[in-house]
Amino acid sequence: MNTFSIGHIRPPFHANSLLLRVTENCTWNKCNFCTLYKEGTFHTRKIDDIKKDIDTVVDYRDMIISHINNGFVNQKDIYIEYTALSTDAERECYSMVFNWITADNMKSVFLQDANTMALLPEKTAEIISYLCKKLPEISLVAIYGRADTLSKITPSQYDMLKKSGLTMIHSGFESGCDDVLKLLNKGTTSEQQIKAGKMIKKAGITFNAFYMNGSGGRSLSEKNAIETAEVMNKINPDYIRIRTFVVKPNTVMWHMSKDGRFDECTDIEKVKELFLMIQNLKNCDGYIISDHIINLLPFVEGHIKDKDKIEKYIENFLEMPRLSQKRYQIARRVFFGGDYENITRFTNTTESKIDEILSHFTNESDFEDFIRSCLRRYI
Ligand code: SF4
Repeated sequence: MNTFSIGHIRPPFHANSLLLRVTENCTWNKCNFCTLYKEGTFHTRKIDDIKKDIDTVVDYRDMIISHINNGFVNQKDIYIEYTALSTDAERECYSMVFNWITADNMKSVFLQDANTMALLPEKTAEIISYLCKKLPEISLVAIYGRADTLSKITPSQYDMLKKSGLTMIHSGFESGCDDVLKLLNKGTTSEQQIKAGKMIKKAGITFNAFYMNGSGGRSLSEKNAIETAEVMNKINPDYIRIRTFVVKPNTVMWHMSKDGRFDECTDIEKVKELFLMIQNLKNCDGYIISDHIINLLPFVEGHIKDKDKIEKYIENFLEMPRLSQKRYQIARRVFFGGDYENITRFTNTTESKIDEILSHFTNESDFEDFIRSCLRRYI
């Protein structure tokens, strides 16, 4: 059985989407905080190879849906078919398509990798048109793009992409503050972000902007919050997605942190920065969402025009006694515990484990080091 190419990285939002690799790795690959795509240099895949991959997806889809009748999945036949496949790559493709059919109802596709919008828009449109023709069930086609790349695409090219079937663009802004972008060596500017975001919105393509609270460290934290909010206010993205910043080992920022050139905010300071950013959002009618386990508060989520509720939720956490905050931090970071509002409903076993962990720390600095070590496990 043929296989199709699958990359390793996708936004959590696309956990059940079909992943289709259109480009490989990252065009920039120089962000000071990033650990991804270090295995190779950026290149685009041949259009004919991508079309062959789409045809292969269709073959897997047809095989799998032959075992589904009126929503009933014949697990036994699926299992027999899956185990009869001869290679791991075939099984990986089969699992992905099965998951896409059963968990996503074949609605969405994510075109990998990190900056696929770097492909000539005409080529991207050709791929998407082919994809939508072969898999007409699809209603959401999403892609990643860096702000510098996105800002160079013209309004008419965005219109063409929209017509071809592109419905969503994700962009890792990280920050809207130029000082922070420089510190991160992001290779983009707030001007590019605003230009790109406005064009994408105008073309009617859903726009997701990612914000990394804490990415400027302590010294730039306030500026980061205020200037990021200014950028968001000018664009009015459909979604602001929160990705709390963490210094990862062996990155440039790791070394900057070790030799004192970067002063990482604490877990709580990062929440304070997020709070300030949200307080400064004005005239945005999109949605803000904390959709990654790396964020301390999972329910920072809702329509920005109703942000009072979100602000209250954060404020209540910030006003909690420090000991309660710490207990919740351990629950969230060690046991993946739900939310601080559930802290009184932990089982006795969880309570005693939290107490046991807490007893190891006599000062805030050791506690913070421990929390950071927990956070480094995440992508
Ligand atoms: S653009 Fe994204 S993938 Fe590329 S180096 Fe920066 S953070 Fe990493």
